[in-house]
Amino acid sequence: MRKPKNDGKSGKISLDRLSGKRGRGRPRWVPAALVRSCADNYRRLLERGWNDLEDPLLAAQSEQEVAVALRRVPPGYPHELSLLAPLILKVIKEPKFPKRKKAQINFLADSIGAGGAVTPRRSRDICAEERARDAQRHHILRYEFWIECSCGYKGRSENHSCRDCGAILYLPTASESDASRDQ
Ligand SMILES: [Zn+2]
Repeated sequence: MRKPKNDGKSGKISLDRLSGKRGRGRPRWVPAALVRSCADNYRRLLERGWNDLEDPLLAAQSEQEVAVALRRVPPGYPHELSLLAPLILKVIKEPKFPKRKKAQINFLADSIGAGGAVTPRRSRDICAEERARDAQRHHILRYEFWIECSCGYKGRSENHSCRDCGAILYLPTASESDASRDQ
């Protein structure tokens, strides 16, 4: 039986993506947004555990020692991190591995965001590209409502107020809207 080819077009991630191995030929296709969101999760996770994790992790010389160090991440998290021990060892031994705590966390998280489907370097690049894209995305600077005021005005609010009489738009608090729904 022939080995199935890397299925880049359908968007499926092959199950061996955690192995850290790369096939021959073109680099694997990985969904950039997923890589970045995994990296973001790893950043949060590592930030929470870093004080306990830092010394044993950075001193680790083997995959086994990395896996032992990773047991110090806060309980309640999926322990997929230990599956990434070989990859993590490679990343923390990179000559470019940063010296400062925050930079170390971000570097490591972004490097493993792709779970080994691409090189740590490519994974970091994908995260950087995704974050740059976010920064360029437009965001809402101002919003208004369409209102009907008791003064008779119907139309767009101005600074969330009635344009005719200046009545201020009153938004019910969460508890009030709960109460009215219960009635
Ligand atoms: Zn009005």
